[in-house]
Amino acid sequence: MPAETVSMNRSTLPFMPKAELHRHLAGSISSATLLEANRRFGVELPAVTVAKLRELTVLERPMTSLQEVLSRFEFFANICISAEVVEFLANRAVADAAREAVRYLELRFSPGFMAFRHGLALEAVVEAVIAGSQAAAQERGMVVPLIAIASREMGPEVCLRTFKLAAKYRPYVVGVDLAGDEDNHPPKPFFAAFDYARDNGLGITVHAGEQTGAENVRTAVEMLHADRIGHGIRIVDHPDIMELLATRNIPLEISITSNYIVGAVPSLEAHPVCRLHQSGVPITINSDDPALFGIDLTGELEVYARICNAGPGDLLQRQLDALEYGFAPESDRAVVRELLHSWWNRV
Ligand SMILES: [Zn+2]
Repeated sequence: MPAETVSMNRSTLPFMPKAELHRHLAGSISSATLLEANRRFGVELPAVTVAKLRELTVLERPMTSLQEVLSRFEFFANICISAEVVEFLANRAVADAAREAVRYLELRFSPGFMAFRHGLALEAVVEAVIAGSQAAAQERGMVVPLIAIASREMGPEVCLRTFKLAAKYRPYVVGVDLAGDEDNHPPKPFFAAFDYARDNGLGITVHAGEQTGAENVRTAVEMLHADRIGHGIRIVDHPDIMELLATRNIPLEISITSNYIVGAVPSLEAHPVCRLHQSGVPITINSDDPALFGIDLTGELEVYARICNAGPGDLLQRQLDALEYGFAPESDRAVVRELLHSWWNRV
């Protein structure tokens, strides 16, 4: 990439209005937010300084075992001690996204994961996430639709309950997702829940084909009615599945650094995002878990630009694509699209 393009990206990217489709609330809780939760709500923490908390909660190098990531998500479940805390965490996660000029954010969360540890009601958790996220969004002129996640580990019954909640809390909740261990929890038991999601007009995205399971991507499309795929990078060695996504215009929600840290790719440079893009598979760029991995969307776009030799126009197109594939009503996405165009015309 020409040097001047790099410098232009670095100076302007943080200010470019951005759109993100794949960001977990559980992975968006900064150390500063944790300390504030401790002061305001008495949330117990294993450390009381930002530096020490970062050490315990942020994972910036490739993990040596899955336990390193799981223990950090456990920590998140432990701090969801009340609906007030959940509302606060959702509020701060959106406020943090605003600081990097994210203007359209599909924030996803698992009601079961956040509710069950401390015996909160599922409804109370969903309402708290809505209250916190929408207050922050309104204050900052953002559009923040929500996605309800069902965990494979919690089984099909909780999955269906989660999707029914999602339908109940529209229009704030616009879609559903399935996450968790792909290898030990095949998709078939979840078919009925996804039929329900489709029949009730919810957007559908599925975590599939991250570490293994390219075939899970095909199943997600054909049997779970997926409109988008979380990660899905394993399909790079399966031309037929790439063709399926390209033909049906189903994008991958790509998270480069996240894939690297969990060991799905050996290096950032080895990430197949460029090959997937060149093969005609629609892609979007996402942070996945910014606080957990010590990253932000701006940085992820820089990584993408560097490894794929993408210029400013390409980075703009990634934002427009994220808006195109977003689950919120077109009128909401059009507002952000307009903002993005007017910003682009000024720089
Ligand atoms: Zn994810």
